[in-house]
Amino acid sequence: MTKIDFYEVLTVSRDANDQELKTAYRKLAMQYHPDRNPDDPTAEEKFKECSEAYQVLSDPEKRAAYDRYGHAAFNGGGPGAGGNPFAGGAQDLGDIFGDLFGEMFNMGGGGGGRKASRVQRGRDLRYDLTREFEEAVFGKEKEITIRRMETCVDCKGSGAARGKAPVTCTQCGGRGQQRFQQGFFSVARTCSVCGGTGTLIVDPCQTCRGETRVQTEHSILVKVPAGVEQDTRIRYQGEGEAGKFAGPAGDLYVVLNVKAHKFFERDGDDLHCVMPISFPQAALGTELEIQTLEGEATIKIPEGTQSGKEFKLRGKGVPHLNSHGKGDLVIEIRVQTPGKLSKQQKELLRQLSETMVVENTPTSRGLFDKVKEMFT
Ligand code: ZN
Ligand code: ZN
Repeated sequence: MTKIDFYEVLTVSRDANDQELKTAYRKLAMQYHPDRNPDDPTAEEKFKECSEAYQVLSDPEKRAAYDRYGHAAFNGGGPGAGGNPFAGGAQDLGDIFGDLFGEMFNMGGGGGGRKASRVQRGRDLRYDLTREFEEAVFGKEKEITIRRMETCVDCKGSGAARGKAPVTCTQCGGRGQQRFQQGFFSVARTCSVCGGTGTLIVDPCQTCRGETRVQTEHSILVKVPAGVEQDTRIRYQGEGEAGKFAGPAGDLYVVLNVKAHKFFERDGDDLHCVMPISFPQAALGTELEIQTLEGEATIKIPEGTQSGKEFKLRGKGVPHLNSHGKGDLVIEIRVQTPGKLSKQQKELLRQLSETMVVENTPTSRGLFDKVKEMFT
């Protein structure tokens, strides 16, 4: 078998430099690559020829030998002791390949290639749910209706009409990527024809028009657990939007908005409110009825209660989320000074005032609080 001259194989001149060799080889390798010529058996032969030629000419030592002896340099019968100095040369083809082209041909066909992923995970959805204060404290179920994209039942998410499978994209050969030459390197871009899916729907499903999903309304029973707070997020895995091409669904997040209570404020799992009492009630002590979230309760205000004093009703607060027990109900006492008094009330207070002595001299806040504590 007569071998064609390596320079001829690569279509370069005898004084071609490294860059010219590379460019020429790359162009030919692209042209004759077996993946690109599945129906042409001679292409593979030419491809191997080019590779062999390049392997020799790109190596200065081998090129020098070839320039001197031609093919004989590599035929075992060549000059020099020990015969073929470059035995096994052609077996390194893979290495050259890897170095030169990286992943250029590492796609489709040969296995291990990057497959275009047309299946995508669906979007997460958010649903804002407003609840009454008590509903958040005690928990309650609520059915909500969400609009979301679901996998089309008619085409089962393929996007193609019944019995018509999507075809491989002719532009990218199903790889979902196109490669462009940029200098010596090739650059991958998402296929503009199939949008990276690698397939084309020639005959789209009538129901979803090839989108693979349809807009639907879906009801979900949201179980608001006892003790949730404002902005609590409840996650429903897989209840978000379906992915395209029957991809997995995203999640649904129900975000709670809790309405304010008439007088209770939450501090974690404790409830707070303010209770006004009169000066005589504070001075003499009294019993008060108070509306808790779970019915009436009685608090005992002892004699001499100061304004700002807090009373706690243990376990009358908010249930701990995800554990047993409840917070407390904290009632802050505020002694009210009357603004309007009858003549009789004024007279009584004057009489009272004459019997009570408060030292009207300035004192520091800290000291005042200490004195206040002593009296309570
Ligand atoms: Zn469909
Ligand atoms: Zn494509």
